[in-house]
Amino acid sequence: MKQLTERFIKYAKQYTTSDPESITYPSTDRQMVFMRKLAAELTEIGCSEVELDNYGYVMATIPANGIEDAPVVGFVAHVDTSPDFTGENVNAQIIEKYDGKTVQLNNGVSIDPKEFPEILNYIGQSIITTDGTTLLGADDKAGVAEIVTAAEILLKSKEIKHGKIRLGFTPDEEIGKGTDHFDVKKFGADFAYTLDGGEIGELEFENFNAAGAKVKIQGRSVHPGAAKNKMINASLVAHQIISMLPTFERPEHTEKYEGFFHLTEIKGNVEKAEINWIIRDHDFGKFEEKKKLLGEIVQSVNFQYGKNLVELEIKDQYFNMRQKIEPVMFVVEIAKQAMLQAGVEPKIKAIRGGTDGARLSYDGLPCPNIFAGGHNFHGPYEFIPIPSMVKAVEVIVNIVQLVGKMNL
Ligand SMILES: [Zn+2]
Repeated sequence: MKQLTERFIKYAKQYTTSDPESITYPSTDRQMVFMRKLAAELTEIGCSEVELDNYGYVMATIPANGIEDAPVVGFVAHVDTSPDFTGENVNAQIIEKYDGKTVQLNNGVSIDPKEFPEILNYIGQSIITTDGTTLLGADDKAGVAEIVTAAEILLKSKEIKHGKIRLGFTPDEEIGKGTDHFDVKKFGADFAYTLDGGEIGELEFENFNAAGAKVKIQGRSVHPGAAKNKMINASLVAHQIISMLPTFERPEHTEKYEGFFHLTEIKGNVEKAEINWIIRDHDFGKFEEKKKLLGEIVQSVNFQYGKNLVELEIKDQYFNMRQKIEPVMFVVEIAKQAMLQAGVEPKIKAIRGGTDGARLSYDGLPCPNIFAGGHNFHGPYEFIPIPSMVKAVEVIVNIVQLVGKMNL
């Protein structure tokens, strides 16, 4: 437990923020610095096939020790932290035996149970927080620390028998590029788990189907004094299209399995207008219907004006991993079982977003997401209870053992 805590705090201190504006892989050199140290540490604890590639991915192996024919299981975590808040000079603090009161940090920042009632679930536990000036980076350095600690336990233990295990550490997850160069073939696992979830017990194998939609409107600008039957105001056509979409299918009116059209940008004048949305739905049929509806609206507006003044472009972004996980549901069952064995109640919920695991699942590596233990990601209120991290390590070790029994 002490080692796990120290390892996490050591990782948290290292500056690994990714940069959405960058055109390099990884997006920041500082991630490469972290990866080099991580690769050295993995070698030091006894991993084999430790490899850092030019894109900043580290892969490593824990060799089988007696069960050679078990499936190869992988564990994946990302090393970057979100550019939404500074991750430089992270000064993690340990609150011993949390007493249920407001946690005062520097900078006038405090974690007040009235605002963050989840913290009351951890009364009596030791909690790691920021000092109020940075994010903590438990997303996802907790996942990294948990995987490395589990690896160390497995490499040292003679009693725990297991098959081959692969470890993967990725850059740039927070800027949506975490799997762009992830070599699934080289990784060579039959299935894997990302340790990138939040609170203890989280287990996720469903996420949104996602598309981006862009509408371009060509109006006709005429002097307003002489505009009758001539002017077409592109901005008003944009307004018309927006008003034809269902009002209650917006992020601010939806939750759980409800999908939405989210208007992300609108710009326009009389001559030209442009609208951007993101379209999200867990259900593939409803996702397709949403895209179709937008197409029909555009068609009807063009019909009304008697010409094609509106142009629509829709691009799929990612898909619900459920479609890829369903045929191999045992992968989820193993994680559930591993949690129950560790005394952790599995909390299965659908992600209202995407995950690296979703992309990996479509690339041929089924990859549900399990908890790393943290709360309030991407800001100074981030915290992680130490016992949740300990349980995550236990869950990894249990998964490995369950997978080892699969071919016996
Ligand atoms: Zn994350």
